[in-house]
Amino acid sequence: MIKKIIVTGATGQDGSYMIEYLLNNTKHKIVAAVRRTSQFINSNLKNVIDNNRVSIVYFDLIDPYSIESLIKNEQPDYFINFGAQTFVADSWNMPMLHFQTNAISTLHILESIRKYCPQCKLYLSGSSEEVGDVDYSPQDEKHPLKPRSPYAASKATGRLLAKVYKQSYNIFVVQGILFNHESERRQDYFVTRKITKGVARIYHAIKNNEPFTPIELGNLDARRDWSHAEDFIDGVWKMLNQEFPKDYVLSSNETHTIKEFVNLAFVYADIPCAWHGEGERKELSIQSNILSIGEAQSSVLVKVNPKFYRPAEVELLLGNSDLARRELGWKPKISFDKLVEKMVKFDIDNYPKSV
Ligand code: GDP
Repeated sequence: MIKKIIVTGATGQDGSYMIEYLLNNTKHKIVAAVRRTSQFINSNLKNVIDNNRVSIVYFDLIDPYSIESLIKNEQPDYFINFGAQTFVADSWNMPMLHFQTNAISTLHILESIRKYCPQCKLYLSGSSEEVGDVDYSPQDEKHPLKPRSPYAASKATGRLLAKVYKQSYNIFVVQGILFNHESERRQDYFVTRKITKGVARIYHAIKNNEPFTPIELGNLDARRDWSHAEDFIDGVWKMLNQEFPKDYVLSSNETHTIKEFVNLAFVYADIPCAWHGEGERKELSIQSNILSIGEAQSSVLVKVNPKFYRPAEVELLLGNSDLARRELGWKPKISFDKLVEKMVKFDIDNYPKSV
């Protein structure tokens, strides 16, 4: 039977991959919910915008009336909420915006579903940041919520609300615990895309014999469990189609430092380099001035800038997604190396358009 699926955050990384996945793997109709103030059709939607199974509606997660009318009018079978304020570092400067967009909106979605569309299956995007100040590694579904940022607290609040609504009203709601997931569509305030776009800029400067400025980063020793976002979409859809709602961790089950990501990114750009110095004086420099791609006019590729340190850091994230692999039959296909390679190659090939 053909179902109706609302996908919020449609112009973002996860929302746009979700819509492509649904078009390729189901016959369902998709309502792409777009924030009025967001760029209407960005390049993430270019593959789907002309498909007659996709319609666009405007709404805003911080306007409860727009959430209510969306659910009341559309009567969806599924509501997949990828709309969010997702940048941890910004959440200390704009805690209210993060709370309204990520936590209060969850309450409005749950209430609207309860009142107007109780059969609707709801997906909420949860984050590994919710376990933040970790008690043990790897982190699984049983790890306690220990948020370290206003962003993480807003996501943890949404999770508690979802649990209450599930128990009180029998609403079908799942909130996956998604570890970091990146791609060629990741916004460049996340460290991975900041690095790959920076590498592309430096690659082209060297190729054109031009000087360049280094990429400035914060904590290079933090560890993250990174996957490709496309791999997670299948896991989300599987979570939504279980008989009974249950939350799962999606992760690669590997952890790497920011420094390791940087090293690999320069390997894929064919720029030989080495680290010098310690702490805030740590720098990555070109090892040889004559490179196969051109002549380097500057030598420092990466340096530390304490302005990118956070008031409270999540030092280590390492997921355990064995349960999802076992019970949902899900597993990621793109390795850490392949993820870095894909992102670097995309940014080099699309420079300066993607920068
Ligand atoms: P997050 O895990 O959702 O916070 O994803 P981010 O990509 O924003 O950050 C991942 C890790 O990279 C965190 O531990 C940051 O402290 C660290 N990091 C180091 N330098 C930077 C930087 O320049 N920008 C960002 N966004 N993160 C950085």
